[in-house]
Amino acid sequence: MNISENIQSIRKKLPPQVKLIAVSKFQAIEKLQAAYQGGQRIFGESRALEMRDKHLQMPQDVEWHFIGHLQKNKIKYIAPFVRLIHAVDSADLLKEIDKEAAKNHRIIDCLLQVHIAREEHKFGFSPDELSSYLESEDWKLLKNIRMVGLMGMATFTDNQEQISQEFMQLKTCFDSAKAKHFAQEDSFCELSIGMSDDYPIALACGSTMVRIGSAIFGERQ
Ligand SMILES: *Cc1c(COP(=O)(O)O)cnc(C)c1O
Repeated sequence: MNISENIQSIRKKLPPQVKLIAVSKFQAIEKLQAAYQGGQRIFGESRALEMRDKHLQMPQDVEWHFIGHLQKNKIKYIAPFVRLIHAVDSADLLKEIDKEAAKNHRIIDCLLQVHIAREEHKFGFSPDELSSYLESEDWKLLKNIRMVGLMGMATFTDNQEQISQEFMQLKTCFDSAKAKHFAQEDSFCELSIGMSDDYPIALACGSTMVRIGSAIFGERQ
């Protein structure tokens, strides 16, 4: 298992404008360092305290993306440095992120998570909830967050056709949100879809950010 080689071989398959998030959750710091030495600068974590601890141990130019379900009482651990929160799954969470960002005199970039999988347990707004939330314009009052796009996860299945349909559904949500609410904002431009097993499908559906863990680092501990 050579982490740098894994990263290089994945990069070759990505169009140049697509960002690679190396998902390092539950991986030892040595593995992150190996990825860093291989040129990787964006890391994704799904637990707040784990991300804070790794942030302290890694070079300052790493960009930290939070990709998991974020609990409100944990925002404070990452608010000083997090670059992008991928999976904002409620209006309340967005409000709390805004407060913590303000305390740190920062503007934090966020993606809204949309529930596209046909699985019960996945977090996020339904496409209808997303439309009504965006229409409410409550989010426009939040001055310390910046909405930069949408994120989603497909159903865990081997059915490529189903995965593709789910990603296309999210792409449709993205295009309509963009046209209705962000036509003037270049910053609303990110569609975070694709993991180790499904990122080629996600690329075909307009992904701008892939979140890849096991294909880079191997199985998680
Ligand atoms: C763990 C995780 C990933 C990475 O999964 P792999 O299958 O290891 O690539 C991507 N996105 C989210 C939200 C995750 O929790």
